[in-house]
Amino acid sequence: MTLVEPTVEERQAQRVYWDLLTHFDGCAPCRGEDYCPVGARLRSAHRATRSALPGAVPAAKTASSPREGS
Ligand SMILES: [Zn+2]
Repeated sequence: MTLVEPTVEERQAQRVYWDLLTHFDGCAPCRGEDYCPVGARLRSAHRATRSALPGAVPAAKTASSPREGS
């Protein structure tokens, strides 16, 4: 039996994701999707790690959340 070890990218993505969740947990603006500078940085870092994962779908440049821009 060979266990599939997480790649470095996967580990990093996981850590960034935890950082993101931990920050959001203690940050009211971020929870309300009014991202503070730290939250915005974590979000883009998280996106970057996710797009670095093998098999990840590259983020569409035009993708935007329905709540943005209002
Ligand atoms: Zn925040």
